[in-house]
Amino acid sequence: MEKVWTIIDLITWGKAYFEEKGVDSPRLTMEILIAHVLQKARIQLYTQFDRPLSDTELTTLRAMIKRRAAREPLQYILGETEFYGLPFAVSPAALIPRPETELLTEYVLKRVKQESVSEVSILDIGTGTGCIAISLAKHLPESSIYALDVSDSALELAKSNAERNGVQNVQFGKINILETIPKRRFSIILSNPPYISTKDMSELEPEVGDHEPRIALTDNDDGMRFYRRFAEIFPGMLEEDGWFAVEMGFGQSEKIKALFAAAGFETSFINDFAGILRICIGSRSIKANVKTL
Ligand code: GLN
Repeated sequence: MEKVWTIIDLITWGKAYFEEKGVDSPRLTMEILIAHVLQKARIQLYTQFDRPLSDTELTTLRAMIKRRAAREPLQYILGETEFYGLPFAVSPAALIPRPETELLTEYVLKRVKQESVSEVSILDIGTGTGCIAISLAKHLPESSIYALDVSDSALELAKSNAERNGVQNVQFGKINILETIPKRRFSIILSNPPYISTKDMSELEPEVGDHEPRIALTDNDDGMRFYRRFAEIFPGMLEEDGWFAVEMGFGQSEKIKALFAAAGFETSFINDFAGILRICIGSRSIKANVKTL
């Protein structure tokens, strides 16, 4: 006779199995997968530990376990994630939204509300899933948001996320920002560009390096390519009193500061949860603002 697998059996087995495969939070991962297959909240599993899974449920679960053991990110297996309290579909077409990027989003929201300017125009370069643009659109319904990406499949995903979250104030466009620029100015420009250097690409966890899109991770250079481009184009793309906020990687702040200083911008930085300088904020330096008489 086939063995009957109850929820608690599976949790115990899965915890050990994922541990052996080097998967993070093995028990939690198993609980999330079981809850997903049974279409229940994870907490509900705790009141039904002895519930056996049907053959069909086990087949579905087995396939998901296999993917996670091969170090595919949990979010791709589930097909969605949460960002700034909103649901986002995710797929290998785009980077999985990160908690650090929520910091950027939060900063922008706070500042816009604080400055109580109406009708801001916001540009998000390399929108991916659309997480930044769509969260801002949801909280700033009066603003006009423009979200650009070079990838058709990412744009498709982002558009589906805009629809899913019921936002109408985001316009999507395909552009390679390294080659062209939009023909207008914006109050705020945001980006979480690919900033991993070619050299660092080999050191990524398998979840990232083997599964997330390379184009979203690296500039195939020294990790600074997009910031060099931004320093070149932001002066002409920002309104006079406009500002920008861009995400960056560990150890990049000094170089980024210098690049933007040379382009006439004053910068400041925000730490992430690990105390790493993660977000660079910039606006025209006073000197650059002084008009010669
Ligand atoms: N803007 C998206 C995000 O922050 C995608 C960023 C990227 O692909 N580098 O998640």
